[in-house]
Amino acid sequence: MARRKLVYEGKAKILYEGPEPGTLVQYFKDDATAFNAEKKATIEGKGVLNNRLSEFFMTGLNNIGVPTHFLKRINMREQLIRAVEIVPLEVIVRNFAAGSMAKRLGLEEGMQLPRPIIEFSYKDDALGDPLVPEEYIIAFGWATQQDLDDIVALALRVNDYMAGVMYGVGIKLVDFKIEVGRVWDNEFMRLIVADEISPDSCRLWDIQTGQKLDKDVFRRDLGNLTDAYTEVARRLKVLPGNGHATPDKPTLIN
Ligand code: UDP
Repeated sequence: MARRKLVYEGKAKILYEGPEPGTLVQYFKDDATAFNAEKKATIEGKGVLNNRLSEFFMTGLNNIGVPTHFLKRINMREQLIRAVEIVPLEVIVRNFAAGSMAKRLGLEEGMQLPRPIIEFSYKDDALGDPLVPEEYIIAFGWATQQDLDDIVALALRVNDYMAGVMYGVGIKLVDFKIEVGRVWDNEFMRLIVADEISPDSCRLWDIQTGQKLDKDVFRRDLGNLTDAYTEVARRLKVLPGNGHATPDKPTLIN
């Protein structure tokens, strides 16, 4: 039997060659890592939930005119995406202080920021994804000033969409990370949202109780990660039929 060609294997996802040129298949694993992969676990059902949730967010973004790599979901764990050239940056948007920002500046977690703040980390696991100023990004040629302007505009649109959607289901969008990729339409280069948008890459707090519904549940040993992600999926009504991430029977997906 012909095997698909593996293009890239990361910590939480695998990329395979897609059925047509310019496409890839993105497979969501159940693996969870934190603290630059020092902490690792396999969490049953996480990949299924993130596949669904990333589909949901990226479809919404595509529909309101924010371009993403998402084309269609193929099955429980896989989606068809546009192949992009990844810009080697983690683009982080923050609405409230948390995580590394709260630590760096001695801020109380949950403090509302005066406005959304965007920061960039250089994607390099060996270096622990260091925070980098725009000056470095431009000097080392990872992106141009024009690219950065476009990336900031894109990230703010994603923030408004995500914050609004989450607010609608009683969840506060504290911060999140996106990755951005380049695609070429003839000689014109465009930047689009790539990778994934899921509770693995966002901080999501219940507005009423402050309960964490994101990867901090795993990072900080706060309970069952699948339950937290299932709650997000349930509120957004993105779970298939029986409400379980792993249905008893296989379901045909159009
Ligand atoms: N984030 C991510 N991948 C990373 C680093 C951060 O998805 O490699 C997300 C993280 O889940 C959070 C936001 O980006 O929603 C800001 O993370 P922060 O810089 O506070 O780092 P952390 O405290 O997660 O180390």
